Amino acid sequence: MARDPFVVVGGGVAAARAVEAIRDIDTDTPVVLVAREQRLPYERPPLSKEVLLGLEPVEAAFVRPRQWYDERGVQLRLGVAVDRLDPAQRTVVLSDGEQLAWGAVLLATGSGARKLKVPGSRLDGVFYLRTMTDAAALRERLVEGSRVVVVGAGWIGLEVSAAARRRGAEVTVVEPQEAPLLGTLGERIGTWFADVHRSHGVTFRFGEGVASLEGTGDTVTTVCTTSGERLPADTVVIGVGAFPNTRLAEQAGLAVDDGVLVDESLRASAEGVYAAGDVARWYHPTLGTRVRVEHWANAYDGGYAAGRSMAGAAVRYDAMPFFYSDQYDLGLEYAGYIPPGTDTELVLRGDLAADEFLAFWVARHDGGTRVLAGMQVHVWDQLDAVQALVRSGVRVDLDRLADPAVALGAVGAERLSGIPPLKSRYAVHRLSWAPRGRP
Ligand SMILES: Cc1cc2nc3c(=O)[nH]c(=O)nc-3n(C[C@H](O)[C@H](O)[C@H](O)COP(=O)(O)OP(=O)(O)OC[C@H]3O[C@@H](n4cnc5c(N)ncnc54)[C@H](O)[C@@H]3O)c2cc1C
Repeated sequence: MARDPFVVVGGGVAAARAVEAIRDIDTDTPVVLVAREQRLPYERPPLSKEVLLGLEPVEAAFVRPRQWYDERGVQLRLGVAVDRLDPAQRTVVLSDGEQLAWGAVLLATGSGARKLKVPGSRLDGVFYLRTMTDAAALRERLVEGSRVVVVGAGWIGLEVSAAARRRGAEVTVVEPQEAPLLGTLGERIGTWFADVHRSHGVTFRFGEGVASLEGTGDTVTTVCTTSGERLPADTVVIGVGAFPNTRLAEQAGLAVDDGVLVDESLRASAEGVYAAGDVARWYHPTLGTRVRVEHWANAYDGGYAAGRSMAGAAVRYDAMPFFYSDQYDLGLEYAGYIPPGTDTELVLRGDLAADEFLAFWVARHDGGTRVLAGMQVHVWDQLDAVQALVRSGVRVDLDRLADPAVALGAVGAERLSGIPPLKSRYAVHRLSWAPRGRP
């Protein structure tokens, strides 16, 4: 008897990887991928880097060419959204009115750009950067001498600033906090980031919000800050964070709490329903808590893990949170997890002034100190060792951790009591597309 199809909802990397995993296990059951945008599933990181710089066409971000899906008998329903999910009837209703039955369904609906709600925020020339369409339109605006105001000094804001400077635009960043990325990287590294951007000609307005945007006719001309400053702008790019696209899950009555709640096998609260990628808050079996990660690697690995789980494999998804960023000629990679509210100390190995270093965030625990997260900046061969150190849970000697002459594998002593080592088949991450432009 024919089985009801696997239905995958979403057009990002999590959806594409889920389809791949399903087909690696099950070559018979129909697979339908439903994506709102009229595009093949694509990856977003190049949109704020190679695509904005004009080095790659937007199509370079497709996860797979169309032929790949055809060869695997994956039915693509592009330009159609899933409007309703009914876990009891095991159906979804599409925006064109069609109803599809499913045997298992994946929510890989990702996240959306948080909107800036101030007067004038809908004027022409105001951009968010989430889709290929956004990136293609924004790229046209980043030209020599144009005045770009970036709202928010998070990852997107900083990458856009770097691309805009590279294309000769004048860039001012407005950020309510006193440094970029304070919440993630802390003051010292945040300040270093600001200095890197200043050295490339970016101007910052820290401690400032946006009160309103003003324009001539329908077109933005000025960003008015909360302290009353008026910044001339031809283009405004807003990067003030993202929110998980949980609407479908909420309407279906699934458990949702800043993300669709799923277990370590990525199963949601209703039978047959799964979630992965930006939208999912999953129970991480080795961290012992639920986490939601808005980064490419988690969508890449988590999408694949969810596809395996849907196809009947035993899955325990325990990838270590990982992200990377490229700005100017700097590349960085970060791995680890710092529970909210944890007091950490920063330990540096290498030379901040030379833009080439490792940073570690360490926490005291039962009289010892262990590494919760680490980042390599313009250093390319240490991430496996950083991840191993984080996973091992060993007590570290801070002087040895800071000393470039000591191998990372030799900075630890015995494992701290009560902390299980984080063993993971996902732990050492390999970037799939990033080798472009990376060593
Ligand atoms: C510009 C940009 C740059 C980034 N750079 C980096 C980086 O350098 N490093 C890094 O680690 N991470 C980066 N990220 C984050 C990374 O891209 C995301 O974590 C990743 O895209 C998440 O993938 P996803 O498949 O879960 O969701 P998404 O990529 O958000 O895809 C979700 C898809 O689902 C579709 N969808 C939503 N609802 C429905 C529905 N009801 N029916 C049908 N389709 C629906 C959406 O249209 C969308 O196409 C970047 C993100 C952006 C926007």
